[in-house]
Amino acid sequence: MTFDTLNLHPALLKAVQEMGFTKPTPIQQQSIPPALEGRDLLACAMTGSGKTAAFLLPIMNRLLGMPRGKTRVLVLSPTRELAAQIHEHFTQLARHTDLRGAAVFGGVGMGPQEQAFRRGVDVIVATPGRLLDHLQHAYASLANVEVLVLDEADRMLDMGFLPDIRRVLRHVPAKRQTLFFSATMPAPIVKLSQEMLSAPAAINIERRSQPATGITQAAFPVKEDLKPALFLEMLRRNEVGGAIVFCRTKHRSNRLFEILEKAGIQVARIHGNRSQSARTDALEGFKNGRYRVLVATDIVARGIDVEALEHVVNFDVPHQPEDYIHRVGRTARAEATGEAYTLVSPEEEKDFRDIERAVGKQIQRKTLAGFDYNARAAERFEVPIGERIKEIRARKAADRERAKAKADARAQREADEANRRPRTSSGGGPRREGDRPAQPRREPAMAGAGAGAGGGDGASRRRRRGGRGRSGGGGPRQG
Ligand code: AMP
Repeated sequence: MTFDTLNLHPALLKAVQEMGFTKPTPIQQQSIPPALEGRDLLACAMTGSGKTAAFLLPIMNRLLGMPRGKTRVLVLSPTRELAAQIHEHFTQLARHTDLRGAAVFGGVGMGPQEQAFRRGVDVIVATPGRLLDHLQHAYASLANVEVLVLDEADRMLDMGFLPDIRRVLRHVPAKRQTLFFSATMPAPIVKLSQEMLSAPAAINIERRSQPATGITQAAFPVKEDLKPALFLEMLRRNEVGGAIVFCRTKHRSNRLFEILEKAGIQVARIHGNRSQSARTDALEGFKNGRYRVLVATDIVARGIDVEALEHVVNFDVPHQPEDYIHRVGRTARAEATGEAYTLVSPEEEKDFRDIERAVGKQIQRKTLAGFDYNARAAERFEVPIGERIKEIRARKAADRERAKAKADARAQREADEANRRPRTSSGGGPRREGDRPAQPRREPAMAGAGAGAGGGDGASRRRRRGGRGRSGGGGPRQG
């Protein structure tokens, strides 16, 4: 089958051709015809399958026959990165059309997004949290939405977004076309799909129980504390070129980042505690080759498309076999080849065997010739949480001490200065015996100072400023 047989507008076919897509992928072959007919879709497909174009192309085809100026399409995405990527894909496909789109997600200014609502761009790609923030204002209306896309619904569930999605649904007309995409179909997702869809065309692209065939997988057994040294050696020997490296926790990804940076590797990191601009810079810099290594937590494992990625390295064995397949799925897109390496400590062997069972084959064990597997680690990799908290408290206590000493010294200087100044007649009369220089003003002593790791300070500061925490704070919202 070719794209020409799909009845798409010539402007879209031209863009598809220029993007180098020669034939539609299976999800595109199966989704585009029913979506063009206006039917709802329930599609089980993963990132890497070409699902983005599978929903964008029929939507854009429909929009081309309509006047501009109304937001007729809403695409909901779980993460900012995925929203940005879908928007970018849209822009590429729209290059020979006058269709307009906007990405709406948190961590960046609201202003340009507000303008997009006001202008009525054709397509809005949004994360649920930021979208709900906009929907509190009169300018943000979804009343003209005719097509709703829910992308990576299972990921939305994992991230705790289902209540937000239900809230968004109240703003979208009930009469609409809905395209529902999910890599897996756990019970809450089945229920949500039943609520949202009407007589959908069900498309089940064979769940990949294995990463794409172009990927060479290998495991490197190594003691936990030698993982950084082994990985560094792989980089030095060019066993690993450009790579995304996945760590289990933010702390571990921060530590690995520090070690690689100290060793002179061009490295960036991306995880949930980093600002949106830092995340964007890391991803862009990695895509354009400014960074050789991108250290990441799970956040980029799904949905992020990095072309021509040579290597995925699991610095830690993922707990879930599914996550392994997702991560390894980053590489060898579109029939390219790639390598996926996993560093496996003795403690992780069991999890790794579960992965092998899930992918249905034994993954080759490799060693790096000449690497001293019995060496002592140069430094401890992971600092236990208790020690980290102690260190933060000590640092904050020292900061407070320093600030107090400075304030005292300044007050003393001012008092001395005041005493040295000659008195004027309006200065309260001649100085009498017993007069004292003004005492430096002190901050009231802080009850339990140093014991709260600064948590109370922040809260009282926020109260003083009249700020307030986000309602429902602490939740996983990141849009
Ligand atoms: P997706 O699953 O939508 O994230 O797409 C994964 C990758 O496949 C992206 O880099 C797309 O540009 C690419 N892609 C999508 N459709 C095709 C196609 N028909 N032929 C070749 N590559 C494609």
